[in-house]
Amino acid sequence: MALIRAAAEPSASELEHEAARLADKGLAGLGYRDEELERAARLTWRINRLKKEKNAVIPAHVYQRPEILLGVADFVGDSYKLAKLGAASDAKTIVFCGVRFMAETAKILSPDKEVLLPAPEAGCSLSESITAADVRGLKKKHPGAPVVVYINTTAAVKAECDVVVTSANAPKILRKLYEKHEKAIFAPDAMMGKNLAKELGKTIGKDLIIWEGSCIVHDNFDAASVEFYRKMYPGVKILAHFECTPALTSVVDYIGGTGDMMKWVADHKASSYMLITECGLGDLARTKFPDKAFVPMCRLCPHMKAVTLERVLSALESPSASQRVEVPAAVAARALRPIERMFELADDKAAA
Ligand code: SF4
Repeated sequence: MALIRAAAEPSASELEHEAARLADKGLAGLGYRDEELERAARLTWRINRLKKEKNAVIPAHVYQRPEILLGVADFVGDSYKLAKLGAASDAKTIVFCGVRFMAETAKILSPDKEVLLPAPEAGCSLSESITAADVRGLKKKHPGAPVVVYINTTAAVKAECDVVVTSANAPKILRKLYEKHEKAIFAPDAMMGKNLAKELGKTIGKDLIIWEGSCIVHDNFDAASVEFYRKMYPGVKILAHFECTPALTSVVDYIGGTGDMMKWVADHKASSYMLITECGLGDLARTKFPDKAFVPMCRLCPHMKAVTLERVLSALESPSASQRVEVPAAVAARALRPIERMFELADDKAAA
């Protein structure tokens, strides 16, 4: 008698087809072997089917694992782009492949949708470096100075501030604020604060008050090695994330957020690049620009890499209480205002 296979399992030919799809999407080029493709395919096949059945979407941050980015994500980008696209989608459920502050931002912008975080413990050293009480303390110490916080913050911290920024729009928004204010507060990323002060010609401690938070991935890259790599790979273009130290950002060819870095690579004709950031961006760049070479100098974010296909599947199949993201209504309402202010000041009203 023929065996009846479980409805949630792919047949042998479906599995083969799915593994071939993943290979073509770029996983083969990234070195996935046949058995790894088959393991991933077994999960992506089920996730993609459940996603349709449950009217769910999967936004994935560029630092996620390649099998998530290429196998199940509906949109890939930075936290800002993902929150906007999640809010604009008609889906009932958002399964956010990223870290907690990102899922919270998605929930603030999509209060009526169910937002799930596959790895509920996935935090962020930046967002954990500052609390709402810290922001209240800064405001008391510097009355009248607008409080600008990076999007990498908790909902409770956003609720205390005047405007949220991303690495892409922070210089533009701060310039606008300086038209009316002599002093501003920027939190929590000290490295980005220092890079911004340099770009805007402001004095730290006088015109720009910064908080001493840092990203565990970006704050330790060695600026001295840049010279070594330039000699080793003549003509290489070196790009660094805004969260890197000023010592490093002052010796590279371009600084920006992940979206800006990808755009810069697309717009330039050099044959080799180095992306100094989390390793996920380099993996994605290798699949998007197969004719360009990427010299590795990256570090893994343990929080981002806590998300696996198995955990995405479990969130979709039967989410645990800790995978459901909730933001208290009063906090969400206060946190929404500085996010909308970002859209206004960045001339990005459509995003709201
Ligand atoms: S890479 Fe840095 S900023 Fe991004 S989630 Fe990890 S710790 Fe946070």
